[in-house]
Formats: sequence, C-alpha cells, structure tokens
Amino acid sequence: LLMAYDPARRLARLQVSLERAVVNARMIYEILDTVPHQRDLPGAGNLALRQATIEFRNVRFGYNQSDDILKGVSFVAEGGKTTALVGPSGAGKSTVISLIPRFYDPSGGEILIDGQDIAHVTKQSLRNGLAYVSQQPYLFEGSIRDNIRYGRPEATDAEVEEAARLAYAHDFIRAQPQGYDTPVGENGVTLSGGQRQRLSIARALVRQAPILLLDEATSALDTESEAAVQKALDHAMSGRTVVVIAHRLSTVVNADKIIVMKDGLVVEEGTHEALAKRSDGLYARLHNLQGSTAQPAVEAQV
Ligand code: ADP
Ligand code: MG
Repeated sequence: LLMAYDPARRLARLQVSLERAVVNARMIYEILDTVPHQRDLPGAGNLALRQATIEFRNVRFGYNQSDDILKGVSFVAEGGKTTALVGPSGAGKSTVISLIPRFYDPSGGEILIDGQDIAHVTKQSLRNGLAYVSQQPYLFEGSIRDNIRYGRPEATDAEVEEAARLAYAHDFIRAQPQGYDTPVGENGVTLSGGQRQRLSIARALVRQAPILLLDEATSALDTESEAAVQKALDHAMSGRTVVVIAHRLSTVVNADKIIVMKDGLVVEEGTHEALAKRSDGLYARLHNLQGSTAQPAVEAQV
C-alpha cells in the first residue's frame, strides 16, 4: 500500500511545488528561467539590443479569459532612461513588468524592444538583456556568493565581488563569519531587509544587462539601510533602461518619465513637473498636490 501510495504523494508534492513556483515566480523572477511557459516561435532569432528602448503598443492581457487586466496599454520606455510606473494598487503595474521577460504573453497588441516584437525572438536572448529586482528579495539555500552568482552563473569571483561593491554589500558581506562563503537562506545567517535587498541588487548587477526591471520595496527600512539601498539602486540604474514600479517619491520625481496607471490603462504620462500641474489629474491627487507650487504633503504611497 505504501509503495503504491508514495508515487502519488510525490506527484502531489511536485504539483504543489510547481504551483508555488508559479505563484512565487513573479515575486522571485530575478531567477528568470524557472518557468519556461512559452516555446520560442519557429525560426525565432536573437534579440539585437541597441538603445534598449521598450515600447508597449495597445497591450491587452488577462490572467484568465474572462477579464482583461490590461486593457490596451501603450507607452515607450526610452533606452537609457528611467520610466516610473505609478498608480493605485491593482492598477496593473506588476502585470506590465511581468510581460517584459515574457513571463506571460499578451492577448493583444505588441511589446517591442528596439523595434523587435519580443514574441518573435528567443526567450533566452530576451532574458539575457534583462535584470529584475523584486519587491521581496529572494535568497535561497547556499552561500552569499552563490546567491549573487545566480544572476549570471559564469560570473567570476572577481565579478561577483565587483557587483557586491557596487551594490554597497561588500562590507557587510566581509563582516559575516565566512565572508562570501557564509550560508544564507533557511539554515543560514539572518540578514536584515536592507542587506537582502542589496544582495538582490548585486545579483541584478552581475548580469550586466542593459534593461533593469525594478519593483521598488514598500517596506520601511531603517534610515541607514535606506541610504545604502538607494546608493546601490543608483548604481544599478545608471546607464540602463529602467522600468520601475515606484513607491518612493524621490524615485518618481527623478524619473525621466512617469506613467500613471489605473484599472489596466495608462491615464496620464509625463514628467513630475508636468503632471503635478494638472491639479485635477490622478497623479496630483495621488501625491496630494494642490497646484504647481504645492509640495507633496506626505510621502507618496502611490
Ligand atoms: P499593481 O501592481 O498595480 O498593484 P497587479 O498587476 O499586481 O497590480 O494586479 C492587477 C490586477 O491583476 C489585480 O486585480 C490583481 O488582483 C490581478 N492579478 C495579479 N496577479 C494575478 C494572478 N497571478 N492571477 C490572477 N490575477 C492576478
Ligand atoms: Mg504590484
């Protein structure tokens, strides 16, 4: 009985862990190749990156047939610039980001990178061009070095360390009992939220990818961590095409372009200055702005 039973249980367990993988995948898909959903189209070529400009053209998408989450989203994220997605919770910001690595495919419209429809290139070449920093940094069983190198398995130790330095993680890593060989994850050392985020940023940096997708953390960090994480992000963002789901006002204000989303649509876009002037606009309301001279009353929670 046990023997007959066991394979079924193992299958059930596998099923559960696969489902969890799918559920968690959007959160953790800095590990970009966990769920190979879609095959490459026959004859798909490699993505040729130039400026790394991303364009959404009337993109529609729903997690199930019955309701569209994105209802025709269009915007351009210019190469080398920072584009911030803001809007109420549930607007579709994370969904937009998850379509760029082709975690899901749109049901209508196109997503182009440097003019190439991403549905028509190999997923490998697409994902090689992307790095992702999630809201909740994911660390797995293994050493700190392994966790950073996961971003690019062929990275040398020197490259791992360089990424850690740029991510303001090198010093705290060196202070761990076994330095870069210190185990993290369930049975490893406990790291603070800010330290985990910097490891996640180092993992993104080691990829040396021209496009950075960033889901900014909402969780409050202590002031020192906040400053270190901000510096790490500044490094990660410089010279790259960045699409950031922005929660912090400083990120929004400094973005080259702000895309305001609501109910699966882009409702406004522009710079902070331009959007803040539209006193009847959603952006101005989200920031509690009254006219062009007013300062945001509170830290934006958009
Ligand atoms: P935002 O990031 O702006 O808060 P999301 O893109 O996460 O918005 O979600 C947009 C909508 O899609 C929400 O209504 C949310 O409930 C739904 N949604 C998000 N992820 C899934 C999923 N994996 N399956 C089904 N519905 C989802
Ligand atoms: Mg979200």
